[in-house]
Amino acid sequence: MQSAEDLYRLGEKIPEAERAVAAKVRDYCDTHVRPVINDHWERAEFPFALLEPLAALGVTGGSIRGYGCPGFSPLASGLVSMELARGDGSISTFMGVQSGLAMNAIALLGSEEQKQRFLPGMARLEKIGAFALTEPDHGSDAVALETTARRLGDGYVLDGAKRWIGNAVFADYVVVWARDAHETVGAYIVEKGTPGFEATLITGKIAKRASWQADITLTDCRVPAENRLELSETFADAAKVLGAARPNIAWGALGHALAAYDAAVRYAGERQSFGQPIGATQLVQYRLAKMLADITSMWLICLRLAELADEGAMTAPIASMAKMHNAEHALRVVAEARDLLGGNGILLEYDVARHFVDAQVVSTVEGTDAVHALIVGREITGYSSFS
Ligand SMILES: Cc1cc2nc3c(=O)[nH]c(=O)nc-3n(C[C@H](O)[C@H](O)[C@H](O)COP(=O)(O)OP(=O)(O)OC[C@H]3O[C@@H](n4cnc5c(N)ncnc54)[C@H](O)[C@@H]3O)c2cc1C
Repeated sequence: MQSAEDLYRLGEKIPEAERAVAAKVRDYCDTHVRPVINDHWERAEFPFALLEPLAALGVTGGSIRGYGCPGFSPLASGLVSMELARGDGSISTFMGVQSGLAMNAIALLGSEEQKQRFLPGMARLEKIGAFALTEPDHGSDAVALETTARRLGDGYVLDGAKRWIGNAVFADYVVVWARDAHETVGAYIVEKGTPGFEATLITGKIAKRASWQADITLTDCRVPAENRLELSETFADAAKVLGAARPNIAWGALGHALAAYDAAVRYAGERQSFGQPIGATQLVQYRLAKMLADITSMWLICLRLAELADEGAMTAPIASMAKMHNAEHALRVVAEARDLLGGNGILLEYDVARHFVDAQVVSTVEGTDAVHALIVGREITGYSSFS
C-alpha cells in the first residue's frame, strides 16, 4: 500500500542540506535504535550503547554555534528532533535534555569561559547534561521553585529537591535552578560526585521507559562560584531556555505521529479481515485520511515555526501554540494507529505501542497542554490567568 505520507509535497520545502541531516539521523535510528530499543524499553534500561553512534552523527548541540556544536538552522534542528522521536521517544528525550535544555542553558546563559569549559565535551557526548527545574511541589508553577542557593565563601550552597530530572542519575553536569536570599533565580552547574547531591531513579513509568528521570535531593551541596551560569538572573532566563527548546518538542510530536501512521498504513495493507485488506474498507480509509490530515497540519506548523525562528520572529505564544497543537494531534494519531492494529497494537514489536504511550509524555513535558493553551489565551485576550 502506498503511504502518501507527503500528499502536500512538503518535502520540497526542505533544502538538500537539511534533508541530508534528517536522512543520517533516520539511518541511525533504523540501523542502531529500532533493532534494540524495544528490549531496553521493556526492561526500562537506558541504552548507553547507542550514545557512541549518536555522538558520531555530529548533531548534538543543535543550533548552538561554535564550541564543537553543529550550528544547525532551526529547520535542521527540528528535523533532528523529529527523526529521533520517529525512531524512539526515549532517545529523543535523552537528546532533548542534553542538547535542548542543558547545553542550551549554558549556551544562552553561560559566560564565554563557561561555554568553552562545558560545551565541547557535551557536544561529543563525552559529558552528559541534565536540567533540573521541576520540583516535587512545583511543576507547571515552576516559577515558585523553592530550592535555595546561599552564598558561602567563594561559592554557593544549594538545598532543596527536584523531580523528574532526565539524565540526572548519570549526568556529569546538572543545571540546577535555585533561588537566592535576594529572591533571584539562577542556574548552578552541579558536577558529578559533588557531596550533597543525590539522584534516585524514578521507576514504574509506563512511558519513555528507556529514558531515565530522577528525584534529586540537594543537601548542603557546595558549588564553586564559577559554576553559577553568569547571565542567569531571573526565572525568565529558565523560561528562555525552555522557549528555545519548545519548537523541538513540537517536531518530536510529529515524529511520534509519523512512526505510528507509517505502521498503521503498512498494517492496513497487510491485515486481512472479511476476505480483504482492512485498508480496502471505507472506515479504515476514512481513519487513515484523518491521520494524514492531522500529520499534514503538524508538518505545516513545524515548517512555519522554522521559518519564523530563522527570521528571529519566534515568540512564546507561537511556540506554545505549536507545542499544544502538535502534542494533541500526535495523541490522536497514535491512538488511531494503536486501534487500527487491533490486538497487535499493544505489542512492542509492531512499532506503535511504544509511540502510543511515549506520546503521552510529549503533551506533559516542558509545559502541559493546558499551560500552553493559557499562554496562547493570554495572547488572545490580554489577560493572564496564571496567578
Ligand atoms: C518523562 C518526563 C521527563 C521530564 N523531564 C524533566 C527534566 O528533564 N527537567 C525538568 O525540570 N522537568 C522534567 N519533567 C517535568 C515536567 O516538565 C513536568 O511534569 C511538567 O511541567 C508538569 O508538571 P507536573 O508534572 O508537576 O504537573 P502539574 O503542574 O501538577 O499539573 C497537573 C495538571 O494540572 C494542570 N494545571 C496546572 N496548572 C494549571 C492551571 N493554572 N490551569 C489549568 N490547569 C492547570 C496541568 O495542565 C496538569 O494537567 C519531566 C516530566 C516527565 C513526565
